[in-house]
Amino acid sequence: MFKANGAYLKLPGNYLFSEIASRVAAYSRENLQKADRILRLGIGDVTQPLAPAVVQALHAAVDEMADAQTFRGYAPDMGYDFLREAIAANDFASRGADIAPDEIFVSDGAKSDSANIQEIFSADARIAVCDPVYPVYVDSNVMAGRTGTYDAATGLWSNVVYMPCTAQNGFVADIPGSGVDVSLIYLCFPNNPTGAVIDKPRLQAWVDYANEHGAVIVYDAAYEAYITDPNLPHSIYECDGAKTCAIEIRSFSKNAGFTGTRLGYTVVPHDLKDADGVALHDLWARRHGTKFNGAPYIVQRAGEAVYSAEGQRQTREQIAYYLQNAQLIVEGLRAAGYDVSGGTNAPYIWMKTPDGMGSWEFFDHLLQSAQVVGTPGAGFGPHGEGYFRLTAFGSRENALDAIERIKRLQ
Ligand code: PLP
Repeated sequence: MFKANGAYLKLPGNYLFSEIASRVAAYSRENLQKADRILRLGIGDVTQPLAPAVVQALHAAVDEMADAQTFRGYAPDMGYDFLREAIAANDFASRGADIAPDEIFVSDGAKSDSANIQEIFSADARIAVCDPVYPVYVDSNVMAGRTGTYDAATGLWSNVVYMPCTAQNGFVADIPGSGVDVSLIYLCFPNNPTGAVIDKPRLQAWVDYANEHGAVIVYDAAYEAYITDPNLPHSIYECDGAKTCAIEIRSFSKNAGFTGTRLGYTVVPHDLKDADGVALHDLWARRHGTKFNGAPYIVQRAGEAVYSAEGQRQTREQIAYYLQNAQLIVEGLRAAGYDVSGGTNAPYIWMKTPDGMGSWEFFDHLLQSAQVVGTPGAGFGPHGEGYFRLTAFGSRENALDAIERIKRLQ
């Protein structure tokens, strides 16, 4: 009899958002008259429609696909040059980062890239993650059998280095001590779930650490577009030496509303080599060639349109709208006496639960008493316990309504 992959069986419980969805569904079934009132500030999906410049590019590309003269079949595995060149110029050269188009691998989004990137590291590579953390980094390594055993009491894996992000360190992980053995470090700024950002000197210190210790940083910059402070780095390649120690992952989901359209990319510089001189770029290219058949032409044309002058103006307006929601949520919660961080240069608001309530306890309380859905911090790791995440991706009306309801809870 066949056997399933035992590594999957080690994964504890439901994926966080499935658990939330099932609690909300159960509440809706049992409280039919209140189901319509539910405000969802939990999952990080956007709500604004695609920008007109993007829609126009999609229509034009569909017309090309409808004509035998301009029809396109399989896209190049690593992406069309028109998109890779636009990315290199707009996301990197404009910030003084020297990334060549052929170091950019276009994909269907940051979730798959951040889950798959571990494949090009050795089976015994030790990972380090922030705690709390976007769950995909750990779960994908669990599936690959790299994380040891799970301790249900602590919520920790035996072979993972956890880097606590607390109010004391401003939710920016401290660099591991010199004796800590780690080869793959996941960092995400602006951060999901805490909304924390990192300044250039602290990011440079991470780069220096990785270069000194022969480690690789997987830098998830999915929320880079939310940075408005001109002093904050948008890319890890703004730091000296990052090309020998960092992979950067980006997404079109949160800067341009592509959550349902699907587009992202990963940068693997040619200079990034392992202890034996193996270039990770070659391995990721090999992986793409074998396991990925390219992002759709029409979607890559839509991505290119994000970088047009109109596309930039329109998508920046959308981001400004979400950031204003974030500001209103932060101010509203603070006025109501809550201890809140994030929400500036980031679409996530990280609040301390009141009266020492547990994260899930507060989730149920908020759902039942105010019909507001957020995300329990504990779902992102043990140090998320006692915290709660709200997102700014909804409508202005819903953000204001949710704040009023939370204030009335007092
Ligand atoms: N990385 C982080 C930190 C995220 O929060 C998300 C989505 O919420 C993703 C990656 C996934 O992005 P994408 O929609 O491009 O798959």
